[in-house]
Amino acid sequence: MSEHLRVAFLGLGTMGLRMAERIRAAGYDLSVYNRTASKAEALGRHGAFVAATPSEASRGRDVVIVMVSDTADVGQVMFGPDGAAEGLGAGSVVIDMSTISPTATRGFAARVSEVGADWLDAPVSGGSEGAEQGTLSIMAGGDAEVLARVRLLLEVLGSTITHVGPVGAGQVTKAVNQVIIAGTYAAVAEGLALGMKSGIDMEAAVSAMAGGAAGSWILDRRSANMIGNEYPLGFRLELHRKDLGIALAEARDLGVPLALAALVEQWESGLIGRGYGDEDVSAVARVVREQAGL
Ligand code: NAP
Repeated sequence: MSEHLRVAFLGLGTMGLRMAERIRAAGYDLSVYNRTASKAEALGRHGAFVAATPSEASRGRDVVIVMVSDTADVGQVMFGPDGAAEGLGAGSVVIDMSTISPTATRGFAARVSEVGADWLDAPVSGGSEGAEQGTLSIMAGGDAEVLARVRLLLEVLGSTITHVGPVGAGQVTKAVNQVIIAGTYAAVAEGLALGMKSGIDMEAAVSAMAGGAAGSWILDRRSANMIGNEYPLGFRLELHRKDLGIALAEARDLGVPLALAALVEQWESGLIGRGYGDEDVSAVARVVREQAGL
């Protein structure tokens, strides 16, 4: 049933290109738009309709998926000149899978509701690997009935799809996720620096800790980067700093002190200034290593 949905996909970057390709391969009627047109060529050769503008891509579509960088970019693609909102009709659903501001999200949802369209905020975690393999974790905010209508489509992209509440709740959940991982990266970097400076066998130390209370995805998957002082992607540090910016703005509005997240955001700003923004976010260990004289 859901395969009959006509889908538009806007934003064919690291994540979006892989996700759109999965939707095409699952047999959906797909139109695509990317600001840099060349990135859409391969999908066009494989049968997707390549639109010249977001509004051309969204016209007559049941579902419009957006996967661009930041809040202003979602605003541009949706509501800028030739924006996708111009092609929306009553009953169509926008699924914004970018990581953006929860507050702006509620405003965007209100704007599309004026033409009878619905908005789901459905940011993801799982990285480019998850995008390619369809194993993303999807944190969805919006109306439960609207989510039910597009769930089969989202199952092409993610292995976990959790309805976390009304519009905006998905973006809040993603912000919480990014705050938690900020603290974890910092704590793992500090712990490892202590071990390295002491001169113990760090591989043995990491495997001794793995199953215990200090165990985490970051200890398992990223401690080798921190020990070797090399930070291949991964998740780009600059994108994590963007996400912490969203979380810190939300926290400021709500009167929530996020001391750890603010510290890590400052470390990341310094690293970006020194040219490390394209490294994996585990590069926060550079700061700790330097302070420890490693
Ligand atoms: P990316 O590789 O930098 O791609 C960004 C995409 O957005 C490109 O298609 C870009 O078009 C488009 N775009 C940006 N600004 C635009 C604008 N003003 N108008 C039109 N198009 C615009 O980013 P990504 O890694 O795919 O990430 C996309 C979103 O997913 C972000 O919100 C990110 O935080 C989130 N996310 C990423 C990961 C990850 O591991 N990468 C994981 C989870 C969530 P051009 O090609 O023309 O530049």
